[in-house]
Amino acid sequence: MTSDRSQALEKIKNEVWDLKESPLYQERVNNKTLPVIGEGSYQARLMFVGEAPGRNEAKTGRPFCGSAGKILDDLLSSVGIKREEVYITNIVKDRPPSNRDPLPEEIAIYGPFLDRQIDIIKPLVIVTLGRFSMSYIMEKQDLQDSLQPISELHGQVLEGRSNSPVKVAVMYHPAAAIYNPKIKKVLQDDFQILSSLIK
Ligand code: URA
Repeated sequence: MTSDRSQALEKIKNEVWDLKESPLYQERVNNKTLPVIGEGSYQARLMFVGEAPGRNEAKTGRPFCGSAGKILDDLLSSVGIKREEVYITNIVKDRPPSNRDPLPEEIAIYGPFLDRQIDIIKPLVIVTLGRFSMSYIMEKQDLQDSLQPISELHGQVLEGRSNSPVKVAVMYHPAAAIYNPKIKKVLQDDFQILSSLIK
């Protein structure tokens, strides 16, 4: 099973590397950056979905390895979850210039790769990080009727309505905590629910 999963994930990696039709492909070539596919356990019960790689991620090819990643690491360890036992990825796999918000056409071209990653890994819980991830995953899980601003939904767990059962846990983006201690405290409180969800 592990090797089926790793083959299927390897195929995604190769396809993203070759995604010349992406509006961000030329940007990647010009800046000599890397696509960020995702990393972690292929048997993960928790899958974290961020927005798009930032500068450090596009340099290393690893998700959440910069300042937002440091906050994510602290949040995980505060609830006793090891980074290597979860899977971490983003909707958009290449860095948008100047870290701007991802455009709808970028989400449209990279989203299907995320959908496949979810189908392969089959997590028990998808943890959305930030509003783009929340909206994308909730729509995919046929939960658009429950969509609200993230200030209302953060910390909540919803039952997905797609073919395979999955819960959706809505969290603020860790980057929102970099300069805002109040959001950091909210994230710390919201993360508490995760350990009970995977017991
Ligand atoms: N922000 C994201 O949404 N994803 C990363 O990988 C890093 C920062």
